[in-house]
Amino acid sequence: MDDDLRERIEREAETAALFNALKHDSDAQVDAILGPMMGENPDFRPHGGDIPGIIAPVIDEVNERSTSEKRDRLESLAPDRLAELDAADETDDRPLPELPNVDSEVRMRLAPNPNGPWHLGSARMPAVIGTYKEIYDGWMLCRFDDTDPETKRPDLGAYDEILSAIEYLGFEPDEVVKASDRLGTYYDYARQLVELGGAYTCSCDAASFSELKNDGEPCPHRDKDPETTRTEFEAMIEGEYSSGEMVLRIRTDIEHKNPALRDWVAFRMIDTPHPREAAAAYRCWPMLDFQSGIDDHEFGITHIIRGIDLQDSAKRQGFLYDYFGWAYPEVVHWGHVQIDAYDVALSTSTIKELVAEGELDGWDDPRAPTVASLERRGIRGEAVVNAMTELGTSTSNVDLAMSSIYAENRELVDDGADRLFFVRDGTEVPIDGAPDVAEPPLHPDHEDRGNRRIPVGDAVLVEPDDLPDVDTRVWLKGLGPVRYDGEAFVFTDDDIGIVRNGDVDVVHWVPAAESVPVRLRTMDGDESGHAEPRLVEYDPDSIVQFVRIGFARIDGHGDDTSVAYFAHP
Ligand SMILES: [Zn+2]
Repeated sequence: MDDDLRERIEREAETAALFNALKHDSDAQVDAILGPMMGENPDFRPHGGDIPGIIAPVIDEVNERSTSEKRDRLESLAPDRLAELDAADETDDRPLPELPNVDSEVRMRLAPNPNGPWHLGSARMPAVIGTYKEIYDGWMLCRFDDTDPETKRPDLGAYDEILSAIEYLGFEPDEVVKASDRLGTYYDYARQLVELGGAYTCSCDAASFSELKNDGEPCPHRDKDPETTRTEFEAMIEGEYSSGEMVLRIRTDIEHKNPALRDWVAFRMIDTPHPREAAAAYRCWPMLDFQSGIDDHEFGITHIIRGIDLQDSAKRQGFLYDYFGWAYPEVVHWGHVQIDAYDVALSTSTIKELVAEGELDGWDDPRAPTVASLERRGIRGEAVVNAMTELGTSTSNVDLAMSSIYAENRELVDDGADRLFFVRDGTEVPIDGAPDVAEPPLHPDHEDRGNRRIPVGDAVLVEPDDLPDVDTRVWLKGLGPVRYDGEAFVFTDDDIGIVRNGDVDVVHWVPAAESVPVRLRTMDGDESGHAEPRLVEYDPDSIVQFVRIGFARIDGHGDDTSVAYFAHP
């Protein structure tokens, strides 16, 4: 290792140690710094064995400083990290901007389209609305906007998947409804609107209506007598037309400067039956702007959050609200969220296709950018919510860095996760003269939790990159010093000082005979390796930290292989 690299490692470790110590108001620990540091600096990884020895004295020095000395030192090393620390202190209690014009109970709604389970971008809405519900002690509706049986066809499994995703994020809707159960309500409001002169039936084909509309010209049906509209709308409800033959339009302003607002469609005919049996007989379906506009009023929604690209919705619905004399809810428009850590696009239809083709093992495949995959990886919903609310609600597009979800999750799981050795693609090396059993601690910060017992046996597995040169000493982590004679590790009587001085690499290992084969499922595909024998004692859903690799969720134990899902470094 050259001096430049060593200095960089020392500087990174010192910065991280100062940051962690100040943030948690406690001593920094080697293990807590090691994982994230390796994650963020891929070029450190080949030297993984040397690094604990290099950073341990740096961290000891940090821990000897007073708080003000730590702050001064962090200021000089990385002023932006100190600023980050101070900013986090200020916003901890209030991650989101205040909602506008709160003068009664805050009532908000999630309005998922159940055309598939949630991708990660979809988690932003429940994260933010659920958090507002908590801040304002408000009320939250989960309304499935499932009134398009054709182009955004509902997926029958997605209703429950979405509810379980909301639960995973830590929230519970006060009420759950399906729009497809509420067609009678939408028809009734449409009938009232016809009476008010606010709607008319139109049998223009889409292209010729569009041409007239763009010229600001009414179609011949706009001024038909209300009795005809009444009769034709009832015939729509009875399913007497086919798709494209008849629509019900809202009478707005045919010369409105924004053509998208001119006499928009409220109901249309769809020949394809709805997949839900309870809704399969309907053919006359409301458009989303009509359905959600009526429902927002019916459920007393006070605040709506929606994408900046949907600004026309509020304007279209404004005509409805004016006819009925209703007050429109407050609207917060926000930009899109982008997540670029995945190869798979953040798109329900794309993920659906890859699952159907067998390219992904399901919506919870670790390679899929979905809520279900994060859950399976053992990442807590709370970490997702914290990272999502930190994005705020601004109108500009925002990037969600997976590393911020990981950082949030690390804080939640680190304390509880036992440490286990895990070796990828192990090379078997005989070992002579070692103790029969290694007893490293279950958790370096919690000695009271006791130690693991790893039977060493006659040989160990180490990662091929960790195999030392002939006649070189290494420290087998948790076991002790050995010299590699070209064929075997021979135990030596060196003390831990050789590690502290940085003279030898620290190498992790598992016993060759008694270790457990593991398939580690990651965002980048599956890896195979061996974990120490204790792994089989952990129930599915347990979170452990594979030393030097990262946190993982135990998924299950097969006859000869265990499966774990990698969470993050
Ligand atoms: Zn017409």
